[in-house]
Amino acid sequence: MSRPFQQVPHLAAIRPESLVAEGVRGLILDLDNTLLGFGASAPSPENRAWVAAARAAGLEIVLLSNNFGPRVAEIAAPLGLHGIPNALKPLPVGFLRAKRALGMRAREVTVIGDQLFTDVLGATLCGMRAILVEPIEDRDFPLTRLFRRIERLVLPERRV
Ligand SMILES: [Mg+2]
Repeated sequence: MSRPFQQVPHLAAIRPESLVAEGVRGLILDLDNTLLGFGASAPSPENRAWVAAARAAGLEIVLLSNNFGPRVAEIAAPLGLHGIPNALKPLPVGFLRAKRALGMRAREVTVIGDQLFTDVLGATLCGMRAILVEPIEDRDFPLTRLFRRIERLVLPERRV
């Protein structure tokens, strides 16, 4: 069965050049368990290198997180990225803010995240493509853990 979104194991499995070749100009990137581990203060060297490669390929990136407080900006700033906290995903409000920050049309933007019911659902509601990655680790907010249980019913092949 084909799905309306792509599934990959991790960021490094996404080739930025392929996205650019498909007309993608901007990425809305989830933070926790997509770019870095839950509660971590910086991405792994591998994911930092991926962000650099994506930008070198011409992609603009905005970080979009349901997390609140200064943490989002503290992670975004050293990477030279714009970070939007309190996104209220899957509601469209945060996605539309991120799209406005990119200054692009929905069809030019791809959302990358580790959750079906926040990242992928929100992208779909806003007419954007989505790529679902496996969560970096299984630690998460209690509400997210509940969503993961439901995800496993929908996506039985998921690892976490
Ligand atoms: Mg996440």
